[in-house]
This record gives sequence, C-alpha cells and structure tokens, in this order.
Amino acid sequence: MIFSQVSQAPADPILGLTDTFKADNRAHKVNLGVGIYKDEAGQTPVLKSVKKAEAKLLEIEKTKNYLGIEGVQAYNQVVQTLLFGENSELVKQHRAVTAQAPGGTGALRVAADFLATNTTSKTIWVSNPTWANHQNIFETAGLTVKQYQYYVAATHDMDFDAMLADLDQASAGDIVLLHGCCHNPTGIDLNIEQWKLVGQLCLEKSLLPLFDFAYQGFGAGIEEDAQGLRAVAKVVPELLIANSFSKNFGLYNERIGAVTLVAEDKATAERSFSQIKKTIRSNYSNPPAHGGLIVSTILADDMLKAEWEAELAEMRERIAQMRTLFVDSLKAEGVSQDFSFISRQNGMFSFSGLNKEQVNRLRDEFAIYIVGSGRISVAGLTKDNMPAVCKAIAQVL
Ligand code: PMP
Repeated sequence: MIFSQVSQAPADPILGLTDTFKADNRAHKVNLGVGIYKDEAGQTPVLKSVKKAEAKLLEIEKTKNYLGIEGVQAYNQVVQTLLFGENSELVKQHRAVTAQAPGGTGALRVAADFLATNTTSKTIWVSNPTWANHQNIFETAGLTVKQYQYYVAATHDMDFDAMLADLDQASAGDIVLLHGCCHNPTGIDLNIEQWKLVGQLCLEKSLLPLFDFAYQGFGAGIEEDAQGLRAVAKVVPELLIANSFSKNFGLYNERIGAVTLVAEDKATAERSFSQIKKTIRSNYSNPPAHGGLIVSTILADDMLKAEWEAELAEMRERIAQMRTLFVDSLKAEGVSQDFSFISRQNGMFSFSGLNKEQVNRLRDEFAIYIVGSGRISVAGLTKDNMPAVCKAIAQVL
C-alpha cells in the first residue's frame, strides 16, 4: 500500500500543545502556549471595530465573485500605509508592491517560494531562537536555513555584536529574516541605532532583509513599532515584508496578512510582482476576501480606525500591566531569582528562562501549559490566573 509508507509527523511544538491542553480535563488548566490575546476575563472576543465593519460588509456585499490574485486592492494600499507611513517616498515612487495573503504564515511562504524559484537567494538567516515555524516554512520552500546569534540566556538580553558578527559571515544575496517588532519568542527588539546598523550591514554585504511583522502595535504603538522597518527600508534598495493582522485586529481565524516587495525601481517591482502572483496562483489561486475587507473597511473609516486604535492600545496596555504584575507576583510568592527582565520585554511573549523539565512539571503537576523553550504568552495571563501560575512557578524553580 502507498500510504502505509507514510511516517508519523511530530506534533507541532505550539499548536500540538493546544491539542494536549484541550484534552486536559483539569478545570483549573491555563494555556500560556499559543500567542492569542485574552482579555481580563480570559476571553478572546471579536473586536468591536471588527464587528461594526462586518455589519457594514454584510449589508453592502453583492457578490462572492473571486478576488484578483493579489486580493483586495484597497487593502493592499492600507497595508503599505501601515508599513511605511502616510508620506512614504518609496510608496510614491511605486517601488512597493503588495499582495494579500492568508495570514503571516501564507505571506512568509509566498515570499519564500518566490525567492526560491526566481532568485539566486537560497540561504536564509534566522535569529537563534526564532518562531518555531520559520525553519519549517523556509525549508519546505527549498531554502537553506542558517542561524545568527540573538539571545543570551545568561543575561536575558540580546547580543547585538554577536548578531552582527554572524551576519558578517553571510554571502551576498543571502536573506536575513528580521522580526519587525516584539521578537518571538524572546520579546527583545533592536533599538533604532541597531536597526540602522543592520540596514547598513545589509547594504554593504548585499543581503536581502525579509521582515516578519506579525505584532505591529503590540510593542510601543502602530507607528513606533514600524520604525525599525522604515529605517532599514531607507538604507537598502530592496526588501520583503510578510505582515499579519491575526493579532492586532484579533483576526486569527480569518487568515489575513500580506506580502510586500520593495524593489529599486517601479519596473523591477512590477516584474517581481508578476512572479509573486504566479507563485500565489499555483498555491491557492487567490485569497479569501473577508479578512481583507474587514481591515480595509476599518482603516478607510476615521471613526472605525480610531476605535480599532483604542482597542489595540487596550490590548497592548493590558499585556504591559500583566508583565509588571507577573514580576511582582513572583516576588510575592517568595521567588528570589530576579525576573525583572520580563517587564523589559515587548509584545505577547516572555522568554522566562524556565527549562524543559520545569515546563513539563508545570504541565503535569499544575495544568499550566507553556512552550518547551520556556516561552510564556503573557497575553494569556489575567488577574485571576496569575496567583496560581506564580505559585506553580515558585514550586518548580
Ligand atoms: N510570524 C510570527 C513571528 C508569529 O508569531 C506568527 C504567529 N504566531 C506568524 C508569523 C504567523 O501569523 P499568522 O497566524 O497570521 O499566520
């Protein structure tokens, strides 16, 4: 038989954990694995701005006809504004082309397929550590994955010099995957001076930056979080961006993101776009409409946009509060180890430094689920579950 030769694939390190969590029947269980925002009540409700946009769409929608390969055009324009700002020179010069994609994952895969098929860039450098799916996506697309130093466990910080030294080993044409903000899993981002140096290095060594931008607005703010990307885009002639609205619009299951290519001139951008569209056509033909229409409807309407910005700020601020409370609660539980680094990290995650054995004990003895690397989704912490989580951590340390 043909299928009898198929071997069992290992469970996904993050989504596999959610499956185990679902099957756990202990009532007090807490899932701090997958990066999903939870509100004070532990829920992930649809944003009010999204509900209003959906009501509008329900009323005006006249057809379910296919979108073009590149998706909703108004959507692709607002994506460029979010990425590059209102008065971007490169947008005015038509150096940027954008295609709607099914989530950040879909955007990364389209970017990787496009590079593997159409360019001589076959090696991609990712940070050590990085989001668990990166290696999977890039290797499946046929790229070779190498790592650059990023995080140092002993200092709970990044080692920028080591990052630059590793990237100095890259060859011309290699791709460098950069987390635009809220680095997953460490929560540690480059500052603006460091971004400029990375841009300079990419320029000098002819490396191609590929930004993974999945958390715009979860760090310091919508504009603030784009500063690194914009600084690099100012220096280098070409780059790629895979962005996602799963988190900042709470549109996880709508699968909405985009792939954006910036070329040295309009003609090259357009020619490259024809190949991006060819890549999409052979993968899923054209994207689903709903998520793109929600985002473009919200961003085209000043009231809805302001409401979304306020909702995003509320998510960002609640996570920041949980970071502080987390550090304080661990102290209150008698933990002497210094966890203050948690309040310096950005975005949804905290790289706790807990080891595999401690992670397993949290799951088996206390029904608290975090990723094997020790990554905790701070966005899943609430005032209600905090005491139990901190008590359990105090016991496994
Ligand atoms: N990149 C990073 C760094 C992520 O954390 C995620 C989501 N966990 C993605 C990409 C993918 O986002 P999406 O769910 O939109 O595919």
